[in-house]
Amino acid sequence: MNVHEYQAKELLRSYGVPVPNGIAAFTVEEAVEAAERLSGPIKVVKAQIHAGGRGKAGGVKLAKSLEEVKEYATELLGKTLVTHQTGPEGKVVQRLLVEEGCAIDKEYYLGIVLDRVTSRVVIMGSSEGGMDIEEVAEATPEKIIKEVVDPAVGLQAFQARKLAFAMGVPAKLVNKFVFMVTKLYTFFVDKDCSIAEINPLVTTKDGDVLALDAKLNFDSNALYRHKDIVALRDETEEDPREVEASKSDLNYIALDGNIGCLVNGAGLAMATMDIIKHYSGDPANFLDVGGGATKEKVTEAFKLILSDENVKGIFVNIFGGIMKCDVIAEGIVAATKEVGLELPLVVRLEGTNVDAGKQILKDSGLAITAATSMADGAEKIAALVK
Ligand code: GDP
Ligand code: MN
Repeated sequence: MNVHEYQAKELLRSYGVPVPNGIAAFTVEEAVEAAERLSGPIKVVKAQIHAGGRGKAGGVKLAKSLEEVKEYATELLGKTLVTHQTGPEGKVVQRLLVEEGCAIDKEYYLGIVLDRVTSRVVIMGSSEGGMDIEEVAEATPEKIIKEVVDPAVGLQAFQARKLAFAMGVPAKLVNKFVFMVTKLYTFFVDKDCSIAEINPLVTTKDGDVLALDAKLNFDSNALYRHKDIVALRDETEEDPREVEASKSDLNYIALDGNIGCLVNGAGLAMATMDIIKHYSGDPANFLDVGGGATKEKVTEAFKLILSDENVKGIFVNIFGGIMKCDVIAEGIVAATKEVGLELPLVVRLEGTNVDAGKQILKDSGLAITAATSMADGAEKIAALVK
């Protein structure tokens, strides 16, 4: 789960990470009021969307007066901002962050991620801040410094110092940098983050080390123990189908193919996408209805798949272990009766109550193509959508 920059900064501030003073605003009036309450000659008006690259896209403005704050707030609120991370459709700006501007001396990059290769938390730093870290990683990988944290002892101060020196942080600011990294690491672990990225982390002309931008991503499997984080969720920023899915407790990820997949079990769902690809098909989604799905849940899943305009055919691949094939079959029949089914539907059922399941589908009179195996089903649906 992602949060907005202003929310991330509030969270980090509460952990002692130095961030600029700032106030969130939802209207032009609030933005001007916020600017009045902040000090310093320059205010930064920042569009709040769940995507980076706002600077280059005109979503970060430096205002020298209240009039300019008003002007920029008016321009940004309601605007569709297209950045390299939003996709061509862009994102509508509904919130702003008004901040005290600072005199930047140099921009750095600092990121904490969970590295799947080493199964450890890795701190990454670079002297090349402010820009796309992916570009830096591609063109000059030696400019990204990494420190792997041993979970038994946590981040050690010497590791943070090593990072600071390798990144070229001025000697007199190393302690402040170490303080920031340490606080950010504590936050990352406490809150079950999957990403905590400060780009740019800046040193200022006044000799401060500040997080000028903040991007946080939280592991959704751990959200049950972080009600404070869940409260920050902004559903308008998420794929509406994924929001629907999470309400029905379905694991759904939208993809850009045309074959809708309804599968039980995450492993089988991934194998299903692979085998569809093998037969030159293109999955429209990952969808795992779970082990103990009810008829209602299957109906929801079906409706979700059909709500995607790109879907030209559906492949249901069920292995009934805990899940019973007749329950799935009832769900399919109920859902297609409710929403109507004009698309080709291939069903492969195997396992518990498979005969009862097949009978229900047969009796329904629906035009369903039965598959004898997973491969058979994938081949059939790939051919049918062509
Ligand atoms: P992003 O483009 O979405 O990652 O947005 P950022 O928050 O990283 O802002 C983009 C750029 O705006 C930064 O790299 C800075 O160069 C600039 N910027 C942001 N805040 C300030 C500020 O307080 N003072 C100055 N001078 N520049 C700022
Ligand atoms: Mn940034």
